Amino acid sequence: MPGREWFGESERQQVNEVLETGVLMRYNWDAERRGVWKARDLEAALKTRFGVAFAQLTSSGTAALLTALSALGVGAGDAVILPTFTFVASFEAVLALGAIPVLVDVDESLTLDPKAVARAIGPHTKLVMPVHMCGAMAELDALLAVAKAHRIEVLEDACQAIGGTYRGRALGTWGAMGCFSFDYVKTITCGEGGVVLTDREGLYTRSKGYSDHGHDHIGADRGAEGHPFLGLNFRISELQAAVGLAQLKKLDDILRVQRRHKAIVKSHLAEIGALSFRKIPDESGDNASFLSFFMPDARRARAVAKQLAARGITGIFYWYDNNWHYVRQWAHLKACQTLGALSREVRAGMPDYASQDFSQSDAIVGRCISTAISLNWTEAEAHARGKAMAAGVKRVLQQG
Ligand SMILES: *Cc1c(COP(=O)(O)O)cnc(C)c1O
Repeated sequence: MPGREWFGESERQQVNEVLETGVLMRYNWDAERRGVWKARDLEAALKTRFGVAFAQLTSSGTAALLTALSALGVGAGDAVILPTFTFVASFEAVLALGAIPVLVDVDESLTLDPKAVARAIGPHTKLVMPVHMCGAMAELDALLAVAKAHRIEVLEDACQAIGGTYRGRALGTWGAMGCFSFDYVKTITCGEGGVVLTDREGLYTRSKGYSDHGHDHIGADRGAEGHPFLGLNFRISELQAAVGLAQLKKLDDILRVQRRHKAIVKSHLAEIGALSFRKIPDESGDNASFLSFFMPDARRARAVAKQLAARGITGIFYWYDNNWHYVRQWAHLKACQTLGALSREVRAGMPDYASQDFSQSDAIVGRCISTAISLNWTEAEAHARGKAMAAGVKRVLQQG
């Protein structure tokens, strides 16, 4: 997840163009900005790069999710299906709209299990939200088929999978809508930022309005614009969009280097028969920001995480114990620890997470180890890392 590793001259130059005009806002101020429209340019570039008809930038990936959910009409009491392995933002956004996050098991793709999704669909289900975790895709064919059969929409949380594809088409452009995050640890970054992608003009118009207080953006006088519906302020600033323009130009190089380094690390681990790799429905579309593999059992996966840490290897993730990415540690969600009272609909509709059985997810995530893939390794360093990781894994396997 390394856009930040390649921050440099072109980002500074882009930001300076904004600083020279002093117009930090993305809308209006037409004369003062002297032709500099960074957010507008970034939206155009994103549409071209990802092959989608409409793009609406937002202030974060979380804001992009809220915007997309709102555009799709998600509100009080609606149920949204999402995986047990994601970032907390996925369910935070659902809850913020008064809707109910329905967590569903993942399979060895580390994303939504389509069979579990089919079982979880109920009368209140409005939406399925596959999350393309750690750079690679959910089983989109199967998930889209389940959604279609039940006439519900799909919103892809592609925040971690910028540049990934499935059957040659960009992740984030398969569902009715898709979201990217440009936060500081994502594949490309603006510091903070996000985008909503869609091919449907109506969903775009709603997204554009919702992320700017409901503004209809008609006419040249912002103060006189209409407000056909209520919104919020999720606007990106020109400074962030400027950084995004420089980063987007680097995306293809980022993907190429990431894939090369991942293949090198993987070649060393592939020699160990006792471990297996994450299932990736379309290997050629992996954005390669992470390499994920499974140990034979959870005890030895945890031991590997400890062993690699002891050997000074950083960037290793044992998600099962992670506070932010896996259901096991989401005590705040299970106990509904919000600052203010939850709506009646949410209180009545929340599944009983304290007692729900996620043993399928536990059996998969509990055995999983991921390593982040760095852009700044040399090839020799990537080999050294692969060797060091393989040595640590073998040590744990020898201990039995
Ligand atoms: C990063 C991330 C988000 C939220 O993005 P922010 O820009 O940090 O708000 C949402 N979902 C997933 C899966 C993410 O990794």
